Amino acid sequence: MARLLEGKPIAEKIKEEVRRQAQSLKNKPILASIQAGENAGAAAYVKSQQKIAFDLGLDYQLHKLGQDTTESVLIEFIKKLNADKSINGIIIQMPLPGQIDYKKISQFILPEKDVEAIHPANIGKIIFGETKMLPCTPAAVMELLKETGVDLYGKEVVVVGHSEIVGKPLALLLLDKFATVTVCHIGTSKAGKLEEHVKKAEILIVAVGKAGLIKGEWVKEGAIVIDVGINRVEGKIVGDVEFEAAEKRASWITPVPGGVGPLTVTMLMRNLVEAAKLQQEP
Ligand code: NDP
Repeated sequence: MARLLEGKPIAEKIKEEVRRQAQSLKNKPILASIQAGENAGAAAYVKSQQKIAFDLGLDYQLHKLGQDTTESVLIEFIKKLNADKSINGIIIQMPLPGQIDYKKISQFILPEKDVEAIHPANIGKIIFGETKMLPCTPAAVMELLKETGVDLYGKEVVVVGHSEIVGKPLALLLLDKFATVTVCHIGTSKAGKLEEHVKKAEILIVAVGKAGLIKGEWVKEGAIVIDVGINRVEGKIVGDVEFEAAEKRASWITPVPGGVGPLTVTMLMRNLVEAAKLQQEP
């Protein structure tokens, strides 16, 4: 039976360090959050960011823009925040209204204030292992792996999902630790090869958003399973992996909810303090 790999206790330890570092700074770090339009998911996420920021002694400014905000208005708004020296980090809440192209917008955030690491310059730095501000969800997964004590060197790691915010940057971080990384995606599934790849994973990380995509019986005996997926099924939140069957085979498994989730916002706050440190250093 697998051990539960819970995010909360790890997040608490990291928060302690973030709080300590924030206190040692000359000015309280400020995160500017832009929310364009109304969305229940985004509103809930903002609330949890606000709560954690205040708890850690950080400032959180919410800027609400209308549903009809144009790209050029949003870009001008970002430029204003870029120029404001009191702001240390900028986050754009998703989803954005349909008329706004997220990829285009991400290029306008000053890389030093890009606490989600979505600017192409920051994504590029991941390749060289040079950045201190890692994208939040991949950073959360790396912290969970660290907690298991596993040595990633030479391990067979399978990442399912190749999005820009999770799968792709995570694969680079794992490569940096000399893991042997296989990235699966829709093409893998369509070719009927997902099961074959998953079965060989010593470490399996799934970030797709499809409940039950990964069958418990596919999980290799003794594997570490990290389920990033969030799905609502019959009023319950579940991941992408069949939990009950998988936990019988795995050595460690993240619960959903309670695994990756509690760590993600903590990573955002860690990045904010990192950004503030870099900006305040002479
Ligand atoms: P995206 O929708 O951007 O990416 C999903 C990925 O899964 C894509 O690469 C897609 O490939 C791939 N995919 C889709 N269907 C299949 C399939 N049948 N087999 C294999 N791969 C498939 O989602 P995100 O990366 O943003 O998020 C993934 C999940 O993680 C979601 O459930 C999200 O809610 C959750 N999440 C959780 C976080 C947390 O803090 N716990 C944070 C961020 C995300 P293609 O693009 O080629 O179709």
